[in-house]
This record gives sequence, C-alpha cells and structure tokens, in this order.
Amino acid sequence: MASKYTLALSSNDLAIDLGTTNTSVYVQGKGIVLHEPSVIAISRNGGKDLKVLAVGNAAKQMLGRTPEKISAVRPIRDGVIADFEIVGSMLRSFIALIDRRRGFVKPRVVMSIPTGTTPVEKRAVRETALSAGAREVHLIEESLAAAMGAGLPFIEPTGSMIVDIGGGRTEVSVISLGGIVLSRSIRVGGDRMDEAILQYIKRRYNFLIGSGTAEAIKMAIGNALPTASTHTFEIRGRDLVSGIPGTLTIDSNDVRAALSEEIAAIVEMVRVTLERTPPELSADLIERGIVLTGGGALLKHLNLLLEEETGLPVILTSDPFSTVILGCGMVLDNLDILRRIGYRAPSASS
Ligand code: ADP
Ligand code: MG
Repeated sequence: MASKYTLALSSNDLAIDLGTTNTSVYVQGKGIVLHEPSVIAISRNGGKDLKVLAVGNAAKQMLGRTPEKISAVRPIRDGVIADFEIVGSMLRSFIALIDRRRGFVKPRVVMSIPTGTTPVEKRAVRETALSAGAREVHLIEESLAAAMGAGLPFIEPTGSMIVDIGGGRTEVSVISLGGIVLSRSIRVGGDRMDEAILQYIKRRYNFLIGSGTAEAIKMAIGNALPTASTHTFEIRGRDLVSGIPGTLTIDSNDVRAALSEEIAAIVEMVRVTLERTPPELSADLIERGIVLTGGGALLKHLNLLLEEETGLPVILTSDPFSTVILGCGMVLDNLDILRRIGYRAPSASS
C-alpha cells in the first residue's frame, strides 16, 4: 500500500473518527495524519478467509467497478457499523498505512460514536478497536467531540448548538456543562442527497447516472438557495430512451429542486430541536448562534437558509471534515477532559 503516511511516530496513541464517508486519524504530537474514504476492498478466497486488497482512496476508486470475487464496500451505513469484522479490517489497514515500519504497540485509542449509540453497539465498537490492536478504548459522542473541535465553550454553563451533516446522518445537539442536553438525528445526510439527485435526473431526463456522479454534481453546483447566477454541469451516463451512453447538461436550479426534501428535513429537525431547548439555553443560542459542521455543511448557501429559517446566526466551522477528529484529538491529548465531563473509566462496561 502507499507509504505517504509512513511516519516515525513519537507517540503511540491515536484518535479516530470513523465516519460513514470518511475516516480520520490523529496521532498525539503530530495532528491529523490520515483522512481517507471509509471504503475497503476485500476478497474471500472460497471459504471465509478475508483478504484486504485496498483501503481508503484506492478502494473508493473500485466502488461499483469490481468483478465477482472482489467487493469494494462502505462498511458503515447511516453512521452505524454494518459489519464489525470488515470494519475491524479497515481500522487495522488504516493503522498499518500510517505506521508501516514500527507498528503501533497497543495504542490507546479515543473514538467518536454517534450520539444515542446503544450500550450493545458501544461494546461492539470497543471490541472492534481492541481486535484492531488497541490497548485501551475511550468512546466519546460525536456531538461533544465536534463542540470541542469547533472551539465551543463546552464545559461552561452556556448553551451551544451543533449541527453535523455527515454522509449517513445529520445530528443536532444542544450542549452545556460538558454534556448533551438534547440531541436528535435523522438518517438524512450526503448519501441521501446523492440518491435524490440520481432519482431526479432519472425521472426528469430519463438519464441514468451513478452515485459518484451524483455526488460530483452536488459538490459542483448543489445549493440550498438560488445563487447569483445559474451554474451548469455536464454529466455522463446512460440515456434510458436510446439505451446508450451519452451526456446531459443540468443546472443549479435542477439540483436545488432535487435536494428540496432532504434540505427541508434537516431544517425541520433543527427547528424542532430549537423548540424543545430549555429557555435559558435558548437565550444563549441567540447570542452564540448555531454551529454547522460535517462535509454536508459545505452545500452552498445551506448556512444562509438555516439563518433565514431560524433567525439565528449560523457559523460554518473552518474545516467541517476535521471538526470531530480535532475534538477527539483534544480528548486524547488530555484524557482528564473525560473525567471532567463525567465519563466512566474505560474498564467499566458501558
Ligand atoms: P462522515 O462523518 O459521515 O464520514 P463527512 O463529514 O466526512 O461525513 O461528510 C461527507 C459528506 O459530505 C459526503 O456525503 C459528501 O458528499 C459531502 N460533501 C463534501 N463536500 C461537499 C460539498 N462541497 N457540498 C455538499 N456536500 C459535500
Ligand atoms: Mg462525521
């Protein structure tokens, strides 16, 4: 595998954000050392033996293009681990990528998990990390990690709202005094947006595209409110009338129409959460606003739409892909934070 991540590591401890779309790894004293798609390509020779062929970017290129014996998969769906064995292999492969020479000797690991992860799921995540070689595993809710990574005063008695739009889910949390006061999530995120674009183009233009193309459209000309000028994008796919490959030009208004339901669902969830926020904390939010993060937050003008719909300032974090991993890194650098916010020791079953 590529050696661009090979490092002489001074520390042995890691923070990991295992996202539906992307995995990031932070090494103490080094910062973020890996950010790659959460994709793994595997083959199973005859029986059950699982062989890893590629991971991350290399595996992403294989998605939808593999022969029968190989599968390129995204083992985390909607923010939930679908196959623990495969996720364990993916984690081990990522760790191998960042330290090929020395090999991590039983690192301590801080990992983020979606808010509302059940105790059974937590145990499974912890066991997956242990099986990938960790000595000690600390789990922290993604929203809390995001609040830390965004530089919010998460320990103080003041309310902050964080909205994290990932690939599989959107999570909104109100945080105060180092804890999550309330939190909601929906299974609407970047993946559902891609699917909506794909379906819209199929319905409206009788034209079939893959989900990778749909994502490219979203990133290039996606928007939640009209932009000053209309942008166009030329796509390749299959014309469903003639049955042969062709090209089609779509514009930014098409994409906004395609995404309307997903965007409305996200806005609605934020509004409902605001309605249920205790009044003292609501008052804090008027001053502090809403912090928007996760890759999906990069959808053009989504921050403006949320401002219009809530009347509150909406602040996009400077690097929405890194907010959660930076928070996990802060925890790794100072495990005492966990005690201060009342986390139980890792040995306790949770
Ligand atoms: P996760 O935490 O689930 O791994 P990320 O926070 O890494 O997710 O965000 C990934 C999502 O962000 C993907 O669905 C991707 O398509 C989307 N995304 C990335 N860039 C943009 C953009 N410019 N506009 C809209 N969505 C984007
Ligand atoms: Mg995420």
